[in-house]
Amino acid sequence: MPVKVAINGYGTIGKRVADAVAAQDDMRVIGVAKRRPTYEVRTAIGKGHPFYTITEENRAEFKKRGLAVAGLLPDLLREADIVVDCTPEDVGAENRPIYERAGKPVIYQGGEEADLVEASFNASANYKEAWGKRAVRVVSCNTTGLCRTLFPLYRDLGVEDVFAVMVRRAVDPQDAKKGPVNAITPALKVPTHHGPDVRTVIHDLPIQTMAVVVPTTLMHLHAVQVTLKEEASAKDVIALWERTPRVRLVDGGEEVKSTSHVMELARELGRSRSDMFEIAVWRDGVSVMGRKLYYYQAVHQESDVIPENVDCIRSMLKLEADPRGSIAKTDLSMGIPAPRK
Ligand code: NAD
Repeated sequence: MPVKVAINGYGTIGKRVADAVAAQDDMRVIGVAKRRPTYEVRTAIGKGHPFYTITEENRAEFKKRGLAVAGLLPDLLREADIVVDCTPEDVGAENRPIYERAGKPVIYQGGEEADLVEASFNASANYKEAWGKRAVRVVSCNTTGLCRTLFPLYRDLGVEDVFAVMVRRAVDPQDAKKGPVNAITPALKVPTHHGPDVRTVIHDLPIQTMAVVVPTTLMHLHAVQVTLKEEASAKDVIALWERTPRVRLVDGGEEVKSTSHVMELARELGRSRSDMFEIAVWRDGVSVMGRKLYYYQAVHQESDVIPENVDCIRSMLKLEADPRGSIAKTDLSMGIPAPRK
């Protein structure tokens, strides 16, 4: 019997998690919940997801728009084996008592603090840490991006230290209200939260991070410098990433020269919502000098964490003991290519 998944919050992350869960044969979406009756409610109902809302006032708002809801959040939680909280940053923490009252395991997203949960999660790096746990956080889009490419280096070559600069997109494409529109905004602190966040997953990785926000909506870009313990050529490192799930090597020489080209590639691949679930690493941007490795990668903030949520469900509910088995199953269902053997 497929496990029953409830999704609370149906925005950028929630709607993608719903589609990814619906694509699996060992889990199913029993309903999604959302506070406001936006256009996304209609598309969700069109996809066959039963729709719930939060309060009686919300229900009245939905009714005014001619949208019938299946019930309120507690009704949905009662039926669920697990809930994936996809509400905005910090709202997950506010929801915790609701999930605890319902007695259901919960996955939170990267906008929540690490101390809210028993473990933070990245499928390749620490799948087993979520095994059988009741509250786990899938780390943020940037942290997921860093873990994807750093973990294989850490595991196979050893890492003495990492310095990464995050060039962050200002907002998601649909967010018309926020900026900056014409500025570059430095984080003004070192480390930014990204370095410590990576260590919630790869616990002893020495990493320092800085960040700036730029006026673009498509993707984040990371410039990363790693001091390896073992010497390796650029070719060796590229070969290692080619064997790593959810990392895609792209080529400036083939005109993939920017984040807009990576997004165009996702459209060319026919991905829904032009999602690029993989971390795109520029093959011709990889350089090695002695034990220092330098590379650039792009992170599609709206979608890289989605397959991680599916694997996190499998680990928490003990559906698949082998991380590689879960990753391969998720990726096959989502059209993400298998890594080279
Ligand atoms: P979003 O604003 O796009 O969507 C949030 C959804 O939750 C909306 O549908 C909203 O109506 C609904 N909502 C608001 N309050 C609610 C409540 N009390 N109960 C139920 N639903 C409620 O947010 P998002 O970008 O999807 O982010 C969700 C989480 O994922 C955050 O923790 C965020 O930090 C994290 N995250 C976001 C991104 C990204 O780039 N968008 C990437 C990775 C992780």
